[in-house]
Amino acid sequence: MEIMNTLFSLLEYFEPNTILLVVGFDILLIATFCRRGGFSLLKRRKKDDWILDISGLIVQGMVIPWLQIVIVIALMATVLPDLAGSLSWHPLAAFVFCFVVVDYGYYWNHRLFHNKKLWAIHQVHHTASQMDVITTSRNTLWTSIFIVYLWVNGIMLYLLADPVAYLLAVTLTAVLDLWRHSKLQPTGALKTILGSVLVLPNDHAWHHSQDVYDVNFGANLNVWDKMHGSWYVNESEPAKIGLVLDMSVVSKLWWPFR
Ligand SMILES: [Zn+2]
Ligand SMILES: [Zn+2]
Repeated sequence: MEIMNTLFSLLEYFEPNTILLVVGFDILLIATFCRRGGFSLLKRRKKDDWILDISGLIVQGMVIPWLQIVIVIALMATVLPDLAGSLSWHPLAAFVFCFVVVDYGYYWNHRLFHNKKLWAIHQVHHTASQMDVITTSRNTLWTSIFIVYLWVNGIMLYLLADPVAYLLAVTLTAVLDLWRHSKLQPTGALKTILGSVLVLPNDHAWHHSQDVYDVNFGANLNVWDKMHGSWYVNESEPAKIGLVLDMSVVSKLWWPFR
């Protein structure tokens, strides 16, 4: 019963954030496909691209948040029942923890994925041949289980007395992830301001390039790449995006089980 109460109170917080995420996604889609050259991006997509990317968006956008709530709450409520809502952090501290500290955890998480032994978990993400927002969540179906967000966010949502600011940072991180996988590179002063802090779409495009993909591992902030020597800046767009994998679409989705 206690578990159900915690679950329902968290669901209340999820609703406005889901709306924000969907609105952000829609705006990015419209901006991507309604601009000049946008329609040719749509035409270049093959059937396998649609299968991989829509599966990814459903898993990461719908299944994982549910899994996060159900698995983590069940685990935490069983192991640490007294700690539900026990962290009374200031909203700013909760926001910064998610947007900055968890972001640093993700940097290393992603960098480890590029290690030879773990590359198979992540390689499908690098098969996208263009940056068009829809490719954001392309992965094998299991990859999210190995990403720090699922576990840390789940635990924090269980522990925080007021998870509103934390959830806002989760949503902002997700919207920035969608944006990074678009071709909507800012220009002028906006580029200078945003680019001094954030990983911009063109920075992440180089992470998806065929030439120098062991760079720019960061998600929200570019400071981690700068700190650890993996920052790569190139004002032009990469000539070729996406690695070619000799795997069927079923294998890409179900690896290692197919
Ligand atoms: Zn990568
Ligand atoms: Zn990516």
